[in-house]
Amino acid sequence: MSAIQELAEAIAGREPDWQVDAKCNDGTGALVELFFSEQIDDIAAAKGFCGDCPAREPCLAGAQERREPWGVWGGELFVNGRIVAQKRKRGRPPKIRPEEGAPQAQTA
Ligand code: SF4
Repeated sequence: MSAIQELAEAIAGREPDWQVDAKCNDGTGALVELFFSEQIDDIAAAKGFCGDCPAREPCLAGAQERREPWGVWGGELFVNGRIVAQKRKRGRPPKIRPEEGAPQAQTA
């Protein structure tokens, strides 16, 4: 289904067909925190939850098309519109290390 069709159905007040079958669509919104969590164990749990969802393919395709900025969709983690293998922990060292002997940032 194209984004235009999804938008048309949203405007008409209907969910796209695949959303009706979505395993996470329990009508309570209770899983939102899990699917948009920053915690690595929550993200793994959300990915696992998607594993046997009958709507996984269209869910993932739609998220890719919309370039979802974050969250788990179709069993994959999205960050800034891209699928990433895993979330980086805060405070991780930079990918590019400063050269030895280069001036270091000063802290007060
Ligand atoms: S694949 Fe995951 S996020 Fe997508 S509809 Fe299914 S349970 Fe929900």
